[in-house]
Amino acid sequence: MIRNTATLLLVFLSLCSLGQKESHTKILLLMGSRFEITAVSPDQDTAMKAIEEGITEIKRIEKLISSWDTNSQTSEVIRNAGIKPVIVDQELFNLIRRSIKISALTHGAFDISYASMDKVWHFDGKMKELPDSSTVAASVAKINYKNIILNSEKRTVFLKEKGMKIGFGAIGKGYAANRALDIMSKMNLKGALVNASGDLISWGKDEGEKDWKIGIINPKQKGKVFSWLNINETAVVTSGNYEKFVTINGQRYSHIIDPRTGYPVKGLSSVSIICPNAELADALATSVFVLGKEKGIELINKLKGIECLIITDKQELFTSENLHLDYIQKPIANHKYQIKIGKEHAK
Ligand code: ADP
Ligand code: MG
Repeated sequence: MIRNTATLLLVFLSLCSLGQKESHTKILLLMGSRFEITAVSPDQDTAMKAIEEGITEIKRIEKLISSWDTNSQTSEVIRNAGIKPVIVDQELFNLIRRSIKISALTHGAFDISYASMDKVWHFDGKMKELPDSSTVAASVAKINYKNIILNSEKRTVFLKEKGMKIGFGAIGKGYAANRALDIMSKMNLKGALVNASGDLISWGKDEGEKDWKIGIINPKQKGKVFSWLNINETAVVTSGNYEKFVTINGQRYSHIIDPRTGYPVKGLSSVSIICPNAELADALATSVFVLGKEKGIELINKLKGIECLIITDKQELFTSENLHLDYIQKPIANHKYQIKIGKEHAK
C-alpha cells in the first residue's frame, strides 16, 4: 500500500517535470470578491509581473468606485446628493455615462442609483411576511437614473435628490476585469484570464496554445460538465446562483430586487451573458435577471454579438437565438475553468 502511494507520487512528480509549466495563477480577494488571475508564459517572472500589474489596476479601480471607502470620488458624489455637482476623473465620469446608457437600454431594470433603496427586504430568514405595498413603493422612490445629472464640459456628476446614492455592484467587477486583462494583454504573454468569482474574461491562448474553454456545470448532473464554451477573447458573466433568498407564503424571493417596483425578482436561478466585453456582460447579466426570461431574451436577441443562457428556478434552460451549446457530458476534472449555473438554492 505504502509502496503504491510512493509509486503514484513518483509518476506525478515526473509528469510535473515534463516540460515547463506555462500557466501561472494567483488567487486573492479584491473588491469583496474572490479573483483568480492567470497569465500564460514560459517565463514565470513575466507571468508574475503581468499578474501583479493586473492586481494593481483592479485595486486602483476599487479605490475610485467603492462606495464603502469614504475617500473615494464615488463617496464624494453621494455626500453631495441634492447639494451640488462634484468634479470627478474622466474615467469615473465615463463609467457613470455608460451605466446610464445601459439603464436607458433596459428601461431602468439596470440602475446604479439602485443603491438609494431603503432596506425593506431581509434575507437572513427572519422575514415571515411581505412588507406592505406602500412601504415597498416608498423604498425605491429615490431610484432614478434620470436624476444622475452629468455635465461633460465641467466633468461633474450631480445626484439630484437628497439621500440618493449610486453603487457599481453590478458593473464594477466587469469593468475591473476588462481593464486588468487589457493591461496584461500588452505584457508579452501568450494569454491571460481573469475570473472574478465566476465572471470570466480571457485573452490570447491557454497553456499549450489551446483555446480557452470553460465547462458549464448543471446542478441536475452533479459532477458533470454538460456543455463547454469556447471563450477566446470572450467574457462569460453570471448573475444569480444566490443562496440568499426568502420564502414567504411558499414563494421564493431572490435577493435581486427590481429597482422599478421594489419587489424581489422571481422565477430565475441564474443568467449568464456571453460577449467580448466583461463590463457590458456584467451589467446585462443583472439586467436580464431583473427583466425576466421573456423580456430578457428579447433584449439580448436584439443585441449583436451578445448571447445569454438562463436557468429558471425550475432548472429549465433557455438561451438566446444564436447561442449553440453542444450537450456533452464530461467529468468536471477535464475542465480547468468552470462556471456553475442554476445552482440549487441553499437549504
Ligand atoms: P454579483 O456581483 O453578486 O455576481 P451582480 O453582478 O448581479 O451579482 O450584482 C449584484 C449587485 O449589483 C447587488 O449586490 C447590488 O449592489 C447591485 N444591483 C442589484 N440590482 C441592481 C440593479 N437592478 N441595477 C444596478 N445594480 C444592481
Ligand atoms: Mg452583474
